[in-house]
Amino acid sequence: MRFVTDRMLGKLSTWLRILGYDTVYAADLEVKGDEDRFIVTLAEREGRILLTRDRGMIREAKRRGIQHVYVRDGEVMEQLKELLHHRIDINLEPVPRRCSICNGELRKVKEGEEAMLLAKSYVPRDKIGKTEFWVCNNCGRIYWKGSHWLNMRARLNDVKGKNRKILNMEETD
Ligand SMILES: [Zn+2]
Repeated sequence: MRFVTDRMLGKLSTWLRILGYDTVYAADLEVKGDEDRFIVTLAEREGRILLTRDRGMIREAKRRGIQHVYVRDGEVMEQLKELLHHRIDINLEPVPRRCSICNGELRKVKEGEEAMLLAKSYVPRDKIGKTEFWVCNNCGRIYWKGSHWLNMRARLNDVKGKNRKILNMEETD
């Protein structure tokens, strides 16, 4: 499952990458000409699910038979729930697979590559050698499961909890 998102959905793009999904964000592209048309064509060509708040793009996606979701809510956790309601069955656990900044692929940092970690001032020195790190093949950003990871999981658990409630309500109808 892969996605392409419009310019209105920067935060959603970041979160989908955190969840491990290959997500092309319109604002990261340098498109000459009609950006909307480019994005719809990209979705079609690469089999990506189009996520947008633009009704024009939705019309075009429908016309071409491209899988899409018209995102209504402005808040990112609500947007994740919207995807679930549209039966886009995303997992709600962070997966270190995609760079949240550039969508590059992550790989595990191997033994002997500590210099790469030391070169980044934001990497906590006391974690080196004690925890796993990942590096983005594209931009070199380093990732690890620190406190931010736990915070993300807490926010996602909230989505899961609320989603379960909604499903229960549907079941009792
Ligand atoms: Zn990157």
